[in-house]
Amino acid sequence: MKRTIHGATLELVQGDITLQQVDAIVNAANSRLAGGGGVDGAIHRRGGPDIMEETRQKYPQGCPTGSAVISGAGRLKAKYVIHAVGPVWRGGNQQEAELLASAYRRSLELALEYGCQSVAFPALSTGAYGYPMDQAAQVALHTVRDFLAEHGKPELVRFVLFDERAFRHFADALEELIPEQSPNKG
Ligand code: ADP
Repeated sequence: MKRTIHGATLELVQGDITLQQVDAIVNAANSRLAGGGGVDGAIHRRGGPDIMEETRQKYPQGCPTGSAVISGAGRLKAKYVIHAVGPVWRGGNQQEAELLASAYRRSLELALEYGCQSVAFPALSTGAYGYPMDQAAQVALHTVRDFLAEHGKPELVRFVLFDERAFRHFADALEELIPEQSPNKG
């Protein structure tokens, strides 16, 4: 599923983010950049130890929630890994939506700073961090849509959803945010 925004492409696919051939793969990191399960475990397994070594050296303080840092991508088919720290879901009144949006925005800013034309995101915060998938999809897509509308780049932003359920939630949210244009509609 695809939409064009200000000349850039926003795409949804189902799959494994570690296999994406894009300039930057976004990791669902924790604020200590300490490694974990889910996306983070998969990225470090497939990318090898260089990624963790680099983040340890460059970011010994970790990364605050709602922000992101960047490293090389080790053995992955990408140039960079952007380590984004989404919020833990605590019921919805602890600024979760703002922090999630900010993690996406900061990742996109870093992608532009490093000249990335294509970026792949997982559904940040929706695994171990417990953010409800439907709400996370709305925040993620809204934030990326606004960023692309303003900047017209990166050229490609791809959400890589791990299973059918995540894909459906994102597809429904995207259809609601940007309905498919009917060719006959005036
Ligand atoms: P968080 O701690 O931010 O919740 P997780 O890594 O636990 O991060 O999960 C984030 C989302 O990524 C979940 O929806 C999970 O199902 C999904 N996920 C897990 N492994 C992969 C993968 N290899 N590729 C893409 N998505 C994945």
